[in-house]
Amino acid sequence: MKHKVIIIGTGPAGLTAALYTARANLNPLIFEGPQPGGQLTITTDVENYPGFPEGIMGPELMDKFREQAIKFGAESINKMIDKVDFNCKPFKVYSGGMEYHSDTIIISTGASAKLLGLESEKRLMGYGVSACATCDGFFFKDKKVFVIGGGDSAMEEATFLTKFASSVTIVHRRDKFRASKIMQERALSNDKIDVIWNATVIDLIGDESKNGLEKIILQDSITEKQMEYNIDGLFLGIGHKPNSHIFQDYLKLDKQGYIITKPGTTKTSIDGIFASGDIQDKTYMQAVTAAGTGCMAAIDAEKYLENLH
Ligand code: NAP
Repeated sequence: MKHKVIIIGTGPAGLTAALYTARANLNPLIFEGPQPGGQLTITTDVENYPGFPEGIMGPELMDKFREQAIKFGAESINKMIDKVDFNCKPFKVYSGGMEYHSDTIIISTGASAKLLGLESEKRLMGYGVSACATCDGFFFKDKKVFVIGGGDSAMEEATFLTKFASSVTIVHRRDKFRASKIMQERALSNDKIDVIWNATVIDLIGDESKNGLEKIILQDSITEKQMEYNIDGLFLGIGHKPNSHIFQDYLKLDKQGYIITKPGTTKTSIDGIFASGDIQDKTYMQAVTAAGTGCMAAIDAEKYLENLH
């Protein structure tokens, strides 16, 4: 069966595109991906989404997005797209051996947490190392945890972790945070949080078959002195990378792997394929801007379909 619109990804961008295309009677088919609801499902309070003056929990906000899209006729499948073929029309996407055809595709696959790239980090992931405080913070009740990074994610993770941990240490590679002032102040005024400046992670020590993570080894980037700390948990808050891997043979991407869209539109390098949300935005990366570009993608797809028939 051929679809008019297939949407890949269910963060604020994908679900807004779904809402708009559903209301335009285009019966969008949405593929949820590995993290249904996107990054907001692993965040806590969202205080900056307009319309919620008291704030709203990230997962609850995404449930509302989904409910609204489904109400108008969007169909959602809890499957991942593992391959695409954009060399033919209609376009083809594949999921677990199944093939789906569509006149337009809206890509809203977002971005995922970056890792440091250490062998020990990979080995201890899930055994004391995590990239999601909201998911795993609960396991660190009265424990000593470190957070790596100096942006809003690191501040948010550190502040959130103080609900559980006995102490939270932020390790930053420079002597200045890049986080917004309000998030920095919130973290720095918390008694449970301290900061180690100018330090990089050299290695993590622990055995995943025993107690998991036990120690972290840091290096002072000015004195080059190495420091060792006993810790129970390590949270990475060092940014994200775009989930564009399966599209790289077809679409124009920038150096970091973000899909390039024509300025002021969501049009990609292939007519009929649109991109919205964090997969094409490394500047704003907010739920509200993702939702905005999701709306743009739906309108762009609708116009494209009008000219097609
Ligand atoms: P980010 O702003 O890119 O910050 C990443 C941080 O990690 C930087 O401080 C960077 O250091 C550090 N870093 C990167 N790679 C590293 C490495 N290999 N080793 C050690 N440190 C490393 O990413 P983000 O904090 O995820 O924020 C991304 C966007 O989302 C921002 O626009 C932010 O405002 C937004 N955001 C908003 C909220 C909110 O408002 N509630 C929450 C989270 C994120 P340098 O500073 O030295 O580059």
